[in-house]
Amino acid sequence: MSATYQVQGDVAVISLSNPPVNGLGHATRAGVVDGIRQAQADGAVRAIVIAGSGKVFSGGADIREFNTPKATASPTLHEVIAALEACTKPVVAAVHGVAMGGGLELALGAHYRVVAPGAQIALPEVKLGIVPGAGGTQRLPRVLGVETALRMITTGEPVKSEVLAQAPGQQLFSRVIEGDLLAGALAFAREVADARPLPSVRQLSAAAPADAAFFAQAKAQLAKTARGLTAPQRCVDCVEAATRLSLDDGLAYEREAFTQLVAGVESKALRHAFFGERAAAKIPDVADDTPLRPVERVAVIGAGTMGGGIAMNFLNAGIPVTMLETQQAALDRGLGVIRKNYEAQVAKGKLAQAKYEQRMSLLTPTLNVADIAQADMVIEAVFEDLGVKESVFKQLDATVKPGAILASNTSTLDLNQIAAFTRRPQDVVGLHFFSPANVMRLLEVVRGAKTAPDVLATVMQLAKKIKKLAVVAGVCDGFIGNRMIEQYSRQAGFLLDEGASPEQVDRAIEKWGMAMGPFRMGDLAGNDIGWAIRKRRYVEKPAVRYSKTADLLCEQGRFGQKTGAGWYDYEPGQREPKPSALVSEMLVAHRKSLGITPRAISDDEIVGRLVWSLVNEGARILEEGIAQRASDIDMIYLSGYGFPLFRGGPMFYADTVGLPAVVDAMKTYQRNPHDDASFWEPAALLAQLAAQGKTFN
Ligand code: NAD
Repeated sequence: MSATYQVQGDVAVISLSNPPVNGLGHATRAGVVDGIRQAQADGAVRAIVIAGSGKVFSGGADIREFNTPKATASPTLHEVIAALEACTKPVVAAVHGVAMGGGLELALGAHYRVVAPGAQIALPEVKLGIVPGAGGTQRLPRVLGVETALRMITTGEPVKSEVLAQAPGQQLFSRVIEGDLLAGALAFAREVADARPLPSVRQLSAAAPADAAFFAQAKAQLAKTARGLTAPQRCVDCVEAATRLSLDDGLAYEREAFTQLVAGVESKALRHAFFGERAAAKIPDVADDTPLRPVERVAVIGAGTMGGGIAMNFLNAGIPVTMLETQQAALDRGLGVIRKNYEAQVAKGKLAQAKYEQRMSLLTPTLNVADIAQADMVIEAVFEDLGVKESVFKQLDATVKPGAILASNTSTLDLNQIAAFTRRPQDVVGLHFFSPANVMRLLEVVRGAKTAPDVLATVMQLAKKIKKLAVVAGVCDGFIGNRMIEQYSRQAGFLLDEGASPEQVDRAIEKWGMAMGPFRMGDLAGNDIGWAIRKRRYVEKPAVRYSKTADLLCEQGRFGQKTGAGWYDYEPGQREPKPSALVSEMLVAHRKSLGITPRAISDDEIVGRLVWSLVNEGARILEEGIAQRASDIDMIYLSGYGFPLFRGGPMFYADTVGLPAVVDAMKTYQRNPHDDASFWEPAALLAQLAAQGKTFN
């Protein structure tokens, strides 16, 4: 039984007891209904308290029972709540720690709620692409008012119990109990034991907002902040329904929205992301209980673009950082950028001045390598040049204490070669941060051939501490994310060759959901970066074909926003891309030189060629074991490349479309004389899964 029943004098106490978060799994739900039945039958019981146990009241549905028959078995949460509402003795929910999702909905079925300060109250269902399914959208507006409830339901973000308890007119909590919650709840239950009639959220109504446009405005706003997502919009519909329908009709309305959403692709994609993030932390051949190396002091080498951002992550987490440079000027510049970033946060009110000062006090700049000898972990972020990396790692090997983790932020170099510059390759790992490193959540953890299991376990744990989403990648050129994006960029170039304009390509893929099209992205990141990589490829892999368009662009010095011109034109000091007549003429001349008659290319073809180019390379990456699992690739694209969340990542999206259809599309592209036929040869894994009717995930 995952709920216990106990009588304390004249009050029955039902304790939810299903660690770790008292999820409302089948046994717990049955336990609550059973407890209510016993209490009703016992003449000595005058009131009932439902409490949590351990650190929380309840985190909601038991995710371990997702997609199992237990999730929908009777008693459902609806039936549990109905049992509370029908109980003829007062039921008091005693909330502490966390009341989220179904946990909060359960509490809303009680006649009274008392709460400990500091509890996190939320309806986070929207984050899984659904609306709350057990009355949350109908009952929360009735106790908190439409505005507060709508904000909580559409964002899914938790609000502290004491904040809600202080809101004027709120009827969520009857009392805030400082100190012993159960004792306070028992005392409260005795106070109300004889009060009749029993109050119920059922009897309350949710007043429609005075402003008739309120709900339409909320939807318009969400269309911007939660672009492409349906669930937040349906949350608004449900709350609006709460203002005009009876509770039972509102529950039916909510039920229908829930049922539709839960079966849809968006919710499947969001659940995939939810579980995918958890799966990414697991490395199959590294045991969960691997002892970790202590990391109390970090050193960062290089105070450039990446070094500064990397250092900030650790300062934010309260971990002291020593920053090493070769020149005072570079050190000063790097420090200046860190200060400026923090000061901007202070100016916006996002960071307290005292916190800023405290963080800066954890930072020690130095030009002396001896100062990093005692660091527990060193992260190298110097120039992307193997010779420079060699001298740095040889120096680290000679100076840094044994057992320290030696990490490189290289984005293109061979980590195994870097590790071999030391006599301790087992301590070397890649930590591929993304720019800006203090902002981007993604971190590729590059596992070298000799990287020790405890080094991997330690950096995965540390990543959590600095709030990064860490995904393990094997050693190869570009690792996972950039290796795939290179194929996508190649396709974008071929599309230009054949007649598409940069703005058409960007528009098509952005309409489909990508945060930014490839050409706007190139202008933002700097087209010279890809140019440098291609120049290397022309020498190393002369057989690989690229469109010449990007080279022609760079030859004109059009590197993007930083030079005021790229694929687009930019007004001085502006970031707004304007279609460029010059680029358009350049493309016309280029096509003529290739003898290509430009054709109209549909948006569907643009999206297909861009997205399937990611998927085909993703399949090769899986095949080679560079990625541990398909969902890891999806997490990289969702968190680091602006891939639309509601499509679940490239591999998941391919699964939803169906792999045979993906292969068919690729065969069609293969017949295009202006594309690269070898490019569209389906990866062996993709062809095999498609033939077997299987999926990546
Ligand atoms: P950067 O040129 O901005 O900074 C490099 C810094 O390293 C300079 O300040 C330089 O003075 C310093 N440096 C050079 N040799 C040194 C030495 N021996 N000891 C101490 N300091 C030294 O470069 P960056 O863009 O920050 O890139 C750094 C690393 O991060 C590269 O390996 C790069 O591939 C990788 N990376 C960059 C990005 C990005 O978007 N810029 C993204 C991911 C990874």
